[in-house]
Amino acid sequence: MADSVADCLFCSIVAGRIPADLVYQDADVVAFNDIAPKAPVHVLVIPRRHFTDIRELAKDPAAAASVLAGIDAVAGERGLEYFTTIFNTGAESGQTVLHVHAHVLSGSGQFWAHAKSA
Ligand code: 5GP
Ligand code: ZN
Repeated sequence: MADSVADCLFCSIVAGRIPADLVYQDADVVAFNDIAPKAPVHVLVIPRRHFTDIRELAKDPAAAASVLAGIDAVAGERGLEYFTTIFNTGAESGQTVLHVHAHVLSGSGQFWAHAKSA
């Protein structure tokens, strides 16, 4: 897989071709507010390099670790006392952007409990 994919929305955000409301960035990851938030805090954490989904990311343990570290950095920077993390995988799960991303959701209580009762 190429490090960057020309027609990938999140590669375009990494490259700065499409603006995003950045929350955190380092050499390996970028985190930004979701354009259509599903909770008071809804941040997307992505590796700078293009991986389609969490299964592809898992083949590169260093890159996978960097995404976990990015989630931790967002939690620290935003002072999150609790949060829910979701990786959608595959269109039927609701994955719409084929560049792996962690949803970090907080501020509306137990997000997963709400999802289960919806
Ligand atoms: P998925 O459904 O693939 O798990 O999540 C994709 C997420 O990306 C959605 O929550 C959607 O609101 C968000 N999103 C889609 N396009 C953009 C965009 O251009 N900018 C930002 N910040 N978020 C986006
Ligand atoms: Zn990409």
